[in-house]
Amino acid sequence: MPMSVALPSNEAELIRSRLDERGIPALIDIHTHFMPMPVLRKVWGYFAAAGPLVGRAWPIAYQGSDEERLATLRSFGVRRFSSLNYPHKPQMAQWLNEWSAGFADAHPDCLRSATFYPEPEAGEYVRVAIADGVQVFKAHVQVGAYDMHDPLLDEVWAALEESGIPVILHGGDGPVPGEHTGVGPMRRLMERFPDLTMVAAHMGMPDYGEFLDLASQFPRVYLDTTMAFTAFTEEAMPFPKDRLDDLEALGDRVLLGTDFPNIPYPYLHALDAIFGLGMSVEWERKVLHDNASGLLGVDRQSASTGAAGSGGSRS
Ligand SMILES: [Zn+2]
Repeated sequence: MPMSVALPSNEAELIRSRLDERGIPALIDIHTHFMPMPVLRKVWGYFAAAGPLVGRAWPIAYQGSDEERLATLRSFGVRRFSSLNYPHKPQMAQWLNEWSAGFADAHPDCLRSATFYPEPEAGEYVRVAIADGVQVFKAHVQVGAYDMHDPLLDEVWAALEESGIPVILHGGDGPVPGEHTGVGPMRRLMERFPDLTMVAAHMGMPDYGEFLDLASQFPRVYLDTTMAFTAFTEEAMPFPKDRLDDLEALGDRVLLGTDFPNIPYPYLHALDAIFGLGMSVEWERKVLHDNASGLLGVDRQSASTGAAGSGGSRS
């Protein structure tokens, strides 16, 4: 596979016409990544080398500066997005959280996000982040290689459950299983903290069905669409066609996520993969905008206020 991705030159226009056709006011993409540049470069290097946690050739579609990537997202009609940093070792989360807070201050259409790691200070800095108005947490059990049931996280889960703030948890077995990944530990987490607002990243791939079951059982479990349904993912981890009815029925619990900019195909393709499911326009609108708007309490006002949000480049 070539290590670059061909992007349509009129991609923004194509995306916005898809949204206009459906009367969808804007996109809220809960799963995107903006990181300190040295960290992002390492991530890109890792993907380029098809490191063991990735498992296959994975060119990055959207490189360039933060400002360029912000302008790209806004041009697509993404009104809200996230920065989603995550540590792979101790003593890193607080630094990442400070960076994410600064980034959200500078770019008000970026959701305030924070992360954590099993370490003695975790309970305290998570409470500080909640008090500071963080809107979404991220935890990456595969990259962090930790057990989400580590007692050092008990206070974190309890604080998150009490706050109602969603945590996007990459704990499924895709793209490559980790020592502590899989539906089992995530189900146990929900059994221990049944009111935790948990967003299973990547629809829990490859165990989509079991994660749909989890969402049916626990009303505060959501699934983000990140990389799901795309040709790239379907090749290795196809969504089971016999669960489409459940996916449709759980339309209130599915949230748009993409992994922008670290994707090996155009953003347009991630959206077309969702449109290709053949769901109703109402379902699509909930998934692409309304569910996240309700969950996060943002952008509740209706459609006609202009698509691209504050400072959006419409070029
Ligand atoms: Zn991600």
